[in-house]
Amino acid sequence: TRSSDQEDLPHATKRKMADHLRRLETMFTLTPQRMRMIVEAFKDALELGLSKSGQVVPMIPTYVFGWPTGKEAGNYLAVDLGGTNLRVCLVTLQGGGKWEITQTKYRLSEEQKHDEGQLLFDFCAECLKAFVESSIESGTIQRGAVLPLGFTFSYPCSQDKIDHGVLIRWTKGFGAPNTEGRDVVEMFKRSLEKHNVPAEIVALTCDTTGTLIASHYVNSDTKIACIFGTGCNAAYMERARDIPKISSLGIGSEDEIAINCEWGAFDSFEHEHLPRTKYDIIIDEASNKPGEQAFEKLISGRYLGEILRLIICELIDEGVLFLGQNTYKIEIPYSFDTAFLSLMESDPTDELLMIIGIFSHFFAVETTLAERQFFRALAKLVGRRAARLSACGIAAIVSKMGYLEEGCAVGADGSLYNKYPKFAERIHEGLVDIFGEKGRGITTYHAEDGSGIGSAIVAAMTKNRKEANVY
Ligand code: BGC
Ligand code: MG
Repeated sequence: TRSSDQEDLPHATKRKMADHLRRLETMFTLTPQRMRMIVEAFKDALELGLSKSGQVVPMIPTYVFGWPTGKEAGNYLAVDLGGTNLRVCLVTLQGGGKWEITQTKYRLSEEQKHDEGQLLFDFCAECLKAFVESSIESGTIQRGAVLPLGFTFSYPCSQDKIDHGVLIRWTKGFGAPNTEGRDVVEMFKRSLEKHNVPAEIVALTCDTTGTLIASHYVNSDTKIACIFGTGCNAAYMERARDIPKISSLGIGSEDEIAINCEWGAFDSFEHEHLPRTKYDIIIDEASNKPGEQAFEKLISGRYLGEILRLIICELIDEGVLFLGQNTYKIEIPYSFDTAFLSLMESDPTDELLMIIGIFSHFFAVETTLAERQFFRALAKLVGRRAARLSACGIAAIVSKMGYLEEGCAVGADGSLYNKYPKFAERIHEGLVDIFGEKGRGITTYHAEDGSGIGSAIVAAMTKNRKEANVY
């Protein structure tokens, strides 16, 4: 038997690992020059998305007009259908930038993501109903009240008003049939009626737009919001006069409107600008949406673990790793969670004990110290590339909007941003590589809960506009 620590690998195997590491370093490293090229192409894609509809990066006008005042008030329900969880919330906006929130979270199963679309909305309605009923019991919601509802649906939807949105395409591995091309508000409404849920959908938002609004509510220096979670995306506030594709709507040219970039789609289909490795290509081709979400597939939490797993499997095939051990567990697609990358990078022990644990506990294989050091180095390559590409996206918006001189704050959220060690630090390094010292004026910070609080604020802003009869 192989002992994990004392016994060392044969010299030849160690040399092969070192060679592979060098090869992979070249593949996964982004030079500042390469990053600047990506930023330029990214800026063009953003401009194109604003000029015409139906572009690769859709640059969706969200019908959220301008920033919140901080005085928004009232009780709102929020439903957040994300890539991993469904969350239902009751938000009380108290005015003066303060709020209270109660919430319940449900995990979405892989089956639900691929079942008939209407069933997914039925599930949302059932969960909301249970939540409302228990809130009535506990006295936080008045019996008989019909509460306004903000629906956070974090998939690209084209909108022509705020309480409407046609799903352009599923992302993040979802594939529920009979949903793409349809109005998801209409579908959700139908489920709410079917289950007699006392709620009225007033606004449809994306998590990034909600994050933008919630973050600005507490920090008015915020100009951009990003999500780095199961998926990735950004939103920012644009001048209506700089969105040629909506010029016919008669929106005042001085008005501002939040744009949901859907930047995860950057470089989809043509694959001209991003440095895809063979592992990225395998993931793309094996996914339920080949060609799509090209940027997201290099960055987001849904894919990073899988990238690392594919590298490991290649080296198993070449006889470099786990010789003589049964490796079937690690050969299962998507079995390597992105959270393992975070753990591997943050293991504080000399022996890399956490990495021993991951491989023995989840994959039933033993590792030598040299292998563990190798895995940690791989995690760093994959994680660092994701952060540096994220920096390219942020830089494209900053540069397009001319925020470099005055500096700006970026509200960021999502499991990768919040839990992956050094992710934020690496974004900041990337921004300095792109912009030089001035890049230090672009800071990111952990944003407010956009899909709960943000969605409620957007609902409140919408109600206030309706009552004032604007648009
Ligand atoms: C979706 C976006 C969302 C992002 C983060 C992407 O896959 O298309 O709408 O904002 O994930 O959740
Ligand atoms: Mg989410």
